[in-house]
Amino acid sequence: MGAKNKGKIQTVLGLINPEDLGATVTHEHLLVDLMCYFYKPEEASKRAYIDKPFTMDVRGELPQIAFNMKANLQYYDIEWSISEISKFVNAGGGALVDTTSMGLGRDPIALTKISRATGLNIVMGSSYYIPQAHPDNIDELSEENIAEVIIRDITEGVADTGIKSGIIGEIGNLYPLSDTERKILRASARAQIETGCPISIHPGAHDESPMQIVGELSQVGTDNSNMIMGHLDFAIEDHEKLLELADTGCFLEYDIFGFEETNLVYLGEYMRMKSDVDRIETIEFLIDKGHLEQVVIGQDVCQANQLTRFGGKGYAHILENIVPRLRKRGWEQDQIDQILIHNPAKALAFS
Ligand SMILES: [Zn+2]
Repeated sequence: MGAKNKGKIQTVLGLINPEDLGATVTHEHLLVDLMCYFYKPEEASKRAYIDKPFTMDVRGELPQIAFNMKANLQYYDIEWSISEISKFVNAGGGALVDTTSMGLGRDPIALTKISRATGLNIVMGSSYYIPQAHPDNIDELSEENIAEVIIRDITEGVADTGIKSGIIGEIGNLYPLSDTERKILRASARAQIETGCPISIHPGAHDESPMQIVGELSQVGTDNSNMIMGHLDFAIEDHEKLLELADTGCFLEYDIFGFEETNLVYLGEYMRMKSDVDRIETIEFLIDKGHLEQVVIGQDVCQANQLTRFGGKGYAHILENIVPRLRKRGWEQDQIDQILIHNPAKALAFS
């Protein structure tokens, strides 16, 4: 199958040429179920939020209750999604990678409807998210079984929809890797080698995590230049470690533009969250070191509080707020185009 897809990008509506992709955010969720992060709080005052609908007055409490409130962790409405993503399209956006992998409520038919309604190119994910989202039978599935499921998503389509995945991910990992996570990574690597489909990784929040994952994948023999290492905003703090990762040749993704440290009391291990300025400065560091052609970006919209209808920054934050800031900092249009257009076109093409 490799030959048919080679050099093309596989969207939910079919194959396209990389030059038709347009400005792209490489890590988002159009409809999502993030209940794998839900937990029931002990405190009665917080339990009051569990089944509460999302209303604007909740925003002030969010740092404390974001993972206790179902209405923050699930949004399923296709019409909402169309109106939210239209802001990105109207701001000049051309494509979006929906990194909703298995376990996060992936919805192929909804993605095709959103794509047709808005003209947006949408690339759909495959493989599995973090352990809390794994299916109950994951221990019964062999590496080969999992590889077959992923390959089928890419070559024939998800279930009986005929709608095909164009990226293997986001593959969810914690640090250190468990045997199950290693099995899923190796199966994903096999699927990449078999199909040429690119990989997108969600690493653990630890400086050693991305390289541990690259090591696991390369044992199977993956092509690093066909891989996006996500969440570097919180995964790697140490600049030497970052350069070590960059030298492997993978794409380097800063994908939570808009997340702010003060909003994230509830995230615990993610407390070293960067601000948007920190993200930009780290990307400028990578550019200084010669890695401009490996950087891709996104906003990882995955909670209701990030939608504009609930006061969030939405999917257009990068185009509306970050790009003008880059210009003010003296970036050339060529550099902005490289990160928003040319790098995603290369990262998402089948090898
Ligand atoms: Zn994500």
